[in-house]
Amino acid sequence: MILMFWNKGMETLPKKELTELQEKRLGGMVDYAYKNSPFYKKRFDRIGLKPSDIKTLDDLSKIPLTTKQDLRTNYPFGLLAVPMSEIVRFHASSGTTGKPIMVGYTDRDIHTWAELMARVLTCAGLTSEDVIQLIYNYAFFTGGLGFHYGAERIGAAVIPSGVGNSARQIMTMQDLGVTAFSSTPSYALYLAEYARNEGIDVSEFNIKRAIFGAEPWSDSMRKKIEDAYGIVAFDNYGLSELCGPGVSVECKEKDGMHVWIDHFLLEVIDPETGEVLNSNEEGELVFTTLTKEAMPLLRYRTGDISLLYEENICGCMRTHPRISRIIGRSDDMLIIRGINVFPSQIEHLLMSVPGVEDHYQIIVDRSGTMDQLNINIEVTEKIFTGDKDNLLRTKNKIETNLKSGLGVKTKVNLIEPGSIPRSEGKAQRILDLRKI
Ligand code: ADP
Ligand code: ZN
Repeated sequence: MILMFWNKGMETLPKKELTELQEKRLGGMVDYAYKNSPFYKKRFDRIGLKPSDIKTLDDLSKIPLTTKQDLRTNYPFGLLAVPMSEIVRFHASSGTTGKPIMVGYTDRDIHTWAELMARVLTCAGLTSEDVIQLIYNYAFFTGGLGFHYGAERIGAAVIPSGVGNSARQIMTMQDLGVTAFSSTPSYALYLAEYARNEGIDVSEFNIKRAIFGAEPWSDSMRKKIEDAYGIVAFDNYGLSELCGPGVSVECKEKDGMHVWIDHFLLEVIDPETGEVLNSNEEGELVFTTLTKEAMPLLRYRTGDISLLYEENICGCMRTHPRISRIIGRSDDMLIIRGINVFPSQIEHLLMSVPGVEDHYQIIVDRSGTMDQLNINIEVTEKIFTGDKDNLLRTKNKIETNLKSGLGVKTKVNLIEPGSIPRSEGKAQRILDLRKI
């Protein structure tokens, strides 16, 4: 197989040179943020930190962490480092965990983003031969236009189909001989289900690969999507605050996601203490932008939990380090009777039981002082309407799996297929009634 790169020199740059480049860019970025972002000037001055104190990567931990709350407090323009005349676009985060964050881009930021997305798409095996359908929201959300610019850059034929109108999405896939698509994983499953109900088998389409992201999805869910469409599914991770998608992606090895560290300096910290962790230790991803003009961020806490792989050259020859797929968001982590549970763990345990459909809802409640974990899960029509003993066996099997996998007793409720509302964007899977 021929290895494909978008920017081979940079993607395979030897580690030592990558570190030198990071160090050089970090110095420039800290200087730039101090001079142009009133937010960072105030932060530095308050603790008597000078840009010249940050000389090497080891000095990074002297800089205080920036949080999502900082962005919300200074909403909408407080972290911009350029005048409005330099801004060419605004996007907003989805607002999954609160008020959406507005992010600005200069012309150069847009250019860099498109380049990084071109790397992402090429890394997942796409070329100018591909016909790619972009099933992301184009309004506010970074997914639509982010993929759009990258896909145009590699010369693929782009179909900006947006979200909604499932019949037309399926018809387009079929009629235009679409070879690749991108969407949230939950919407991909929904579309496959929609087609199946219409008597259409999407695995007979021309689609070879797809790139998914924007929400956590388990390996079992990946297998379901791959089987439904007969494709290879790649994971990609990013966030609006850094640019959107374009921060990291899996390669053909599908063993962790390469992070483009020439643009985003990565640390993993203990979310409780803020201490920087070693590779293979699970913690919160923290990024420092190295090239952003409009909204530079220094040591930005993402809230996303993952781990950095031990360094080794990947089979694809890329030297950029890999992180594990996202385990969850720190604010999505449920603490049930003192035990930490991530929704992705639940999903993985559910999907390994035959007859379980792709849609579920986690409901956490409190009865007296006891937390109660309830899960509504759709099962196949055959199981739902079939033999009652079999239905009970399936329920017991799921409860046993969850108890042994999570260490938490769970009450499972098997429900009719199609009864949980479907989302065109990010799936809303958790209802924490304890917070209401
Ligand atoms: P919001 O935080 O409001 O959802 P964004 O629309 O910017 O804002 O989405 C970025 C967030 O989406 C990330 O911080 C992360 O929590 C989640 N995310 C993005 N890609 C992935 C992925 N591949 N796997 C898991 N979570 C992801
Ligand atoms: Zn690789």
